[in-house]
Amino acid sequence: MTSIKAQPGIMDIELYQSGAAHIEGVDNVIKLSSNENPLGPSPKAVEAYQRAANNLHRYPSSDQIGLRSAIGEVLSLDADRIICGAGSDEIIAFLCQAFAGPGDEVIHTEHGFAMYRISALSAGATPVEVRENERVTNVDAILEACTSKTKLVFIANPNNPTGTMIGEAEIDRLADALPPQAILVLDGAYAEFVEGYDGGAALVDQRENVFMTRTFSKLYGLGSLRVGWGYGPAALVNVLNRIRGPFNLSQSALDAAEAAMRDLNYTNHCRHENEKWRTWLANGLSEIGVPSDVSQANFILARFANQTEAENCDRYLQSQGLVVRRVAGYKLPNALRITVGDESACHLVLGAIQNFKAGKK
Ligand SMILES: *Cc1c(COP(=O)(O)O)cnc(C)c1O
Repeated sequence: MTSIKAQPGIMDIELYQSGAAHIEGVDNVIKLSSNENPLGPSPKAVEAYQRAANNLHRYPSSDQIGLRSAIGEVLSLDADRIICGAGSDEIIAFLCQAFAGPGDEVIHTEHGFAMYRISALSAGATPVEVRENERVTNVDAILEACTSKTKLVFIANPNNPTGTMIGEAEIDRLADALPPQAILVLDGAYAEFVEGYDGGAALVDQRENVFMTRTFSKLYGLGSLRVGWGYGPAALVNVLNRIRGPFNLSQSALDAAEAAMRDLNYTNHCRHENEKWRTWLANGLSEIGVPSDVSQANFILARFANQTEAENCDRYLQSQGLVVRRVAGYKLPNALRITVGDESACHLVLGAIQNFKAGKK
């Protein structure tokens, strides 16, 4: 008999449910469940990845200066205050590990991204869920929930799975009123989809308590490679760099991400395609009685009459080879989150939901 036990909090973590990729008995599924770029990454990123195959015996760059410089140049940021992670998930984990522990509180919103809670519990901290206002981040509710134990406040802007966003003035007001020991983390996983939005970078430059996370998994189409990054005040980045593994990203991932970042034409093309088909899909759904909030991201949160209708629709879509995301785990049992696919996928998914609504199931 041993007395081996996990650290407190670990066994409270529910296993992360990733978007389904397969349907029993169906060969060509159309995957609209994980907010991936239907157009794939920039061809230049793929070339860079293939070139990296010639040096697989070498350890990757530890200072990651190539990628950090590219991000700094393209987005006009201070490369010294950028930190790269194996997905922005790893940056979120670093933040929790470095700044929150037993007895500390980590705030996330009602329909917020699952990794905030998971990373907080991993660090032994206490996740605190704050209500939203009709699927929109509620700054007043967050401020009411703050205590002397609050160490981190996570907000995705735009948010996943709601697709909604709050404005700069609201973010400013939140950053201003946080208790002095708390960091506001702006998760900008979908920032690239919002034309002209800096993800909160300017706010990071102006303040000591705001940190931004970004990813190459969504608009840049490199989810498989696991590349994310953070941008923050020098003092915070200095802390995080101490717990970052020296070789946390492979060179092939670093090289591909660098090429993707520098391919501005491709980035713009993907943003425009997403915008065009997102509007088309949302309008089409609305016309058949499936409303959604105006989405700023690369997915639509389609709302159904009730949980049964949402589940039946999901089953029907699966029978048609279409995989979308159920979001009951995000306290949205009446909704399905549908990634904006390419033109053909958007036609297929709208057609299938039309058939479902017309009772042809
Ligand atoms: C997808 C996503 C991420 C992280 O993705 P990585 O692949 O780990 O970079 C972070 N936050 C939100 C809100 C997301 O939807």
